[in-house]
This record gives sequence, structure tokens and C-alpha cells, in this order.
Amino acid sequence: MALFELSERLQKLPPYLFAEIDKKKKAAIAAGRDIINLGIGDPDRPTPQFIIDALTEGANDPATHQYALDNGDPGLRRTISEFFARRYAVELDPDSQVYPTIGSKEAINHFPLAYLNEGDAALVPEPGYPPYRSGVIFAGADPVLMPLLAENDFFPDLGAISDADAARAKAIYVNYPNSPSGKLATKEFFADVLKYAEKHDLIVVQDAAYAEMSYGGRALSILEMPGAMERSIEFHSLSKTFNMTGWRVGWACGSADLVAGLGRIKTNLDSGIFTAVQRAATAALEGYDSFVPGLVEMYQGRRDAFCDKLNELGLKVDPPEATFYCWIACPEGYSSTDAASRILEEADVVVTPGLGFGPSGEGFIRATLTVSAERLVEAAERMAALDW
Ligand SMILES: *Cc1c(COP(=O)(O)O)cnc(C)c1O
Repeated sequence: MALFELSERLQKLPPYLFAEIDKKKKAAIAAGRDIINLGIGDPDRPTPQFIIDALTEGANDPATHQYALDNGDPGLRRTISEFFARRYAVELDPDSQVYPTIGSKEAINHFPLAYLNEGDAALVPEPGYPPYRSGVIFAGADPVLMPLLAENDFFPDLGAISDADAARAKAIYVNYPNSPSGKLATKEFFADVLKYAEKHDLIVVQDAAYAEMSYGGRALSILEMPGAMERSIEFHSLSKTFNMTGWRVGWACGSADLVAGLGRIKTNLDSGIFTAVQRAATAALEGYDSFVPGLVEMYQGRRDAFCDKLNELGLKVDPPEATFYCWIACPEGYSSTDAASRILEEADVVVTPGLGFGPSGEGFIRATLTVSAERLVEAAERMAALDW
């Protein structure tokens, strides 16, 4: 019925590819099979108690019960700015260059509404986090996909973007540490992106959700790079860093103009973040040193246990440099959906087919390090035991 015909913008979204596997997964769990779920990017550990305590204390203060101020709690903005100065040696004005968000997913989705028009394009990496594409499509613009290929170390080949696409584009999206490849940016790569963006007059949108989950030393913020602050906005999230996916809190930072543009959209769309959550986020960042290094060490131990076992048993994988994702090449002759189906049906392990993250994800499966090292070793043994 025409009444229920979905809008063109929804119809333009890429199809959801996992219906089949989701059905099989649900059936396997319902049948009582011992499923090891490496499918979702959601931390298995609880939020640390000191953050819950800050929330509780905040919730008990009636001053938090009203609409939150438009551009976020001043204490949180100041704390983010201090955190950024300490961690990245980048000075951010807490009033104009920092904006708390309801997790970064909403902000990444909403940002293009501030800058893109119909007929514009935006350069978007694939495989990648789906909201880059959907946000651009919701704004009426066209995503131009930049493949991230193993042979290019999972960096986009900027030289391969056509002049016509570059001319139409208003923004370029990057995501490092990268999901799903687990790659870290280099200074050279960020410098190339900024040079390209300057040449073609592009906004740089950098998703730093995994900035604090890196195993070989600190990840870079693009805002550390010369010239970045004039044209970049970077999205950070407390979700993965503090086991807070359900809390919905993160922040955007960077160019004061771009932050203000995002703010214009957000003040029209939402009415801020529960102030008690913002106070809890403040406590989280203040308690960073007491929690985050230990969390990263835990994931590193899981990564090593899982990847070492897979490699030992003949399923080759490069351990991720960052993030809790292992991006594993499918065994010879298998598509990503066939490999994932077989792993689920015969090994009782849930992994995600790479195709779901974009066409260049074909040939890979993604496994998330969100179960214990013991279970990861068992998952690796089960996967390798199949006759590939
Ligand atoms: C988890 C994740 C985010 C952040 O999500 P929130 O909305 O902050 O919970 C952003 N980008 C990527 C690639 C992610 O995996």
C-alpha cells in the first residue's frame, strides 16, 4: 500500500544481509547448543563501579532532572578538553570545540545534515561502520565508496578517486583505529588525507571510537596533525573505552565551525544527555588511568590467545593493531557468508561475514574479542577443526 511505502532515503540504504545467519543463530541458541558469539561489537564486561556510583549520585541530585543544557555539561566539556590535552597534546576550547553526543552513532548520522545538500557526495570507506553511509544518504547526498583493501594495508587509495567524485564531494570520512580491519593510522596517512582534503576543499570526518583501544602504543587523533583543526571533526565515544555501550555518551571535537554546525542540528533534534550520565562520563574520563590500561591489556591477552591459536592450527590471521576485531581471510574457495554459515552450523561459533560491511569485505569474516580468552581458544579450535 502506498501509505506504507518507505521513503526513498530508507529504500536507498544497502540491504540487510544477515537475515539468514541471524535466523540460524537464533535457532541454534533456542536448540540449546553451546554457541560462542563473536558476532557483535559490544563489550562483555560491566561498566566499572566508580562510574555507576557517579551516575547514582547524579541521579539523586534533583539538579540533574531537567533538560540538559544544549551544548553539554560544562564540567564534562572541560574534562574532555583536559583529557585531550593530556592524551593527545591538543588544545580544545571546551566551549566551542567540544560537544557531548548521545553516543557517537547519532552524531555521525546527524552531522551530514549540517553540511551536505542533495547532489553532493561524500567519500566513505568500505568495509566500514554503516552510519557513515546512512548519514550521508539521509542528508540526500551520495556516498562514494572508497575500498579498504588488504593490498593497500586497509587504507583508501586516494589516487583512485575520480576527479568528478572529488569535485562533487564535500566530505571525506576516515575511521582509525579502523573497524573492521583493526589497523592504526600513520602520520603519513593522516597527512595525505589532509592534503587531499585541502586540495578538494573537503571536510574531514574522523571516527575515533577505538582511539583508546590500541595495542602498540597510543593511537593518533587526526587533530594532532598540522592543518587538521581547520577542517576536521573527530568523533569519540565512551562506549568501548569504559564498557558503556548502553549509556549513550561520546563527544565530537575539532573545528569550532564544524562543531557549531553539528550543534545547530542537534539542538533541533534532541534535548541533550541526561546530566547524571554526563557527570558519570566526567568521572569515567577522570578515572581513565585506573581502568583503561587494564582493559586494553585484557583485550590484548584475548587477541594473542585467539590469533596465536588460529595461526597455530593453520587458519592464518594478522592480529589487529587496535580494536577488538579480528579480520580474518576466509579459507580458500569460501565466500564470507558461506564461511560464516559453516562456522555457525558446524562449529557453533558466530562470526560476521565481511560482505555486510561493504563489497570489499567479501573474502573476510570478523570475529570480536568479547568473550574470555578460554572461550576464544575454544572457538579457534572449533573453527580450525572443520575440514576446510
Ligand atoms: C562502536 C562504534 C562506534 C561508537 O558507537 P556509540 O554510538 O558511541 O556507542 C563508532 N564507530 C564504530 C566503528 C564503532 O564500532
